[in-house]
Amino acid sequence: MKAQFPTDFTGAKGEMPSLECGVCLELYNESSHIPRCLSCNHVLCTSCIIQLLRKGPLKCPFCRSWHGRTVISSVDIPVHNRLMSMVSENLKRNSALNDGEGAQSDQETHLNVVQLRADILRASEEGTNVYAQLLRNDRQARHARVSICDNRLHLHCLKDEPPLHDSRVISYDMVRALADEVYSVVFLEITWNAAVQGKVYIHLLDDAGRTRQFLYLCTGEQGPSYANTRFLEVSNKGNPGEQVWGGDYENNDGSGGAALPDMVRGPKNHQDVIAGLVAGFYYPGFGQDHNPSQFGIYTRDMAGYVEMSSMGRVLSGLEIMTAVAQLVDLQDAFVSDCGLVLFH
Ligand SMILES: [Zn+2]
Ligand SMILES: [Zn+2]
Repeated sequence: MKAQFPTDFTGAKGEMPSLECGVCLELYNESSHIPRCLSCNHVLCTSCIIQLLRKGPLKCPFCRSWHGRTVISSVDIPVHNRLMSMVSENLKRNSALNDGEGAQSDQETHLNVVQLRADILRASEEGTNVYAQLLRNDRQARHARVSICDNRLHLHCLKDEPPLHDSRVISYDMVRALADEVYSVVFLEITWNAAVQGKVYIHLLDDAGRTRQFLYLCTGEQGPSYANTRFLEVSNKGNPGEQVWGGDYENNDGSGGAALPDMVRGPKNHQDVIAGLVAGFYYPGFGQDHNPSQFGIYTRDMAGYVEMSSMGRVLSGLEIMTAVAQLVDLQDAFVSDCGLVLFH
């Protein structure tokens, strides 16, 4: 019987479908080389998608068209289901032949993402949680919750409190390795009126010191975090260049927010001022008195102006920040949780 193959991936109609990625030529698998479908219908593997995202907005390597949707994590790019089921069939057949030996080596060094997702779902059904445990020489163990929201894996900020008794605990370093080291997306969960209003997802633009500090204050990896910090002020309120400031992890009133130890602000990053741009780490001598941990999110464009301390861009949730800028009591709004999005 002639097999039915999808026609909507690389290769002309009727050609044998390839079980290898057309870019890296690796065989598709169920971990780092899952076949995913761009909005132009071309298919490539997760690993190649990460490589492309590291260079900027996602552009198809085959037809040069832009991917039409926001990418926060790999799950935002749909799996090519028919190809995937062929890959799974193949893997099953091979592992039956090899008595499962081949599949095992991968699991010894890497966290099994499928298993992790299943554990999180099961824990949540049982009313418990999965935590990543950070152990560092002389310090008490710290824990970060790992959750699934909109199908994306979230690593919440580290906290000193031990997790509840029946939680599942796994290694922080193994979980952390599921984030891409270059394409980083962090989240801020925003609360006001005593209700969680949603998450703001921010793509980090570079690896400058100020940006790395922002990342560390989202993960809590160097100690303090943005969790439970208020918003402090709105500059240019109602006008072009409107910007919401927050991030005083020390005093929570705008008077504090020292740089993390050994942090330098790094090279400038110039970006046009448009709504969603995230800026930070002040430059002395420009009349700003913000402390270095404080950050500002632009909620309105300012044509012709350039921000030189740019750190990130809001991918999703800008409407939440726009609403924060309009609150009568700004300090009622705060970052109730924060963390890192795991790419896999
Ligand atoms: Zn590939
Ligand atoms: Zn394409």
